[in-house]
Amino acid sequence: MKVFINGKFVDEKKAAVSVFDHGLLYGDGVFEGIRAYNGRVFKLKEHVDRLFCSAKAILLKIPMSHKAICNAVVGTCRRNKIRNGYIRLVVTRGAGTLGLDPNRCKKPQVIIIAATIQLYPKELYEKGLEIVTVPTTRNHANAVNPAIKSLNYLNNILAKIEANNAGCTEAIMLNSQGFVAECTGDNVFILKDNKLYTPPLSSGALHGITRAVVIDLAKEMKIEVAEPNLTRYDLFNADECFITGTAAEVVPVVRIDGRTVGNGGPGKLTAKFINIYKELANATGEEI
Ligand code: PMP
Repeated sequence: MKVFINGKFVDEKKAAVSVFDHGLLYGDGVFEGIRAYNGRVFKLKEHVDRLFCSAKAILLKIPMSHKAICNAVVGTCRRNKIRNGYIRLVVTRGAGTLGLDPNRCKKPQVIIIAATIQLYPKELYEKGLEIVTVPTTRNHANAVNPAIKSLNYLNNILAKIEANNAGCTEAIMLNSQGFVAECTGDNVFILKDNKLYTPPLSSGALHGITRAVVIDLAKEMKIEVAEPNLTRYDLFNADECFITGTAAEVVPVVRIDGRTVGNGGPGKLTAKFINIYKELANATGEEI
């Protein structure tokens, strides 16, 4: 596999960053996880837009244009003959000193890895997922804003550990006000009385690209969508629940904190979203 590093393709065995890179030392950097389906990169512009927004929020100047990054993502897929895969796009602050000061980091590193994806087991989509609420609160927007897709994912990792300890693979994270924010690597939706609800972006949820796709699909299907603050009570009493993310796509949730959601199986609308999302992802995107 050839990895894109600052404009060059480097063999994966030689692909490396400095041990003084503040991405490594402090989680100082931003990233995107992108999927390729059927020879196309899905929602490439949206991912690169978000990468630039994350970088702007941490005052990190990406040393390439938006267009150059898009071309490099497609080029890395082409170089590695990826038609279906998962792409990791990373921009680190670059090598600096052992001190915190980002001004000492003179050269941000742009890294693109285009790999095959380990798909989640099919039965996850057929049987549904059990999740739990975890004690770790989602980062406060005035501390590390969850809208920033930064290399510092400890908040999410702590929640993931707590989920794993409870025998689950995903977790519901609440914000500091006690409202539902999101999962460790996915956004969350519920259906109640034929209306679709997802926490507002201000809750501490990532501006999920899959989330936006599902909202658009729902509106096309004339399903009402609202983004109010949600509590655990709302999740427990939902007719359907599912989570969304680039890697996971749309996954049904059938149990939350020991409460059965709906009839205990994936909901009807959830199943519809799973299918139409797949169709859309396989039919649109930037050609490789
Ligand atoms: N929330 C978090 C914390 C995430 O890391 C992700 C996945 N990148 C998502 C939500 C889902 O976002 P997207 O649909 O853009 O992949």
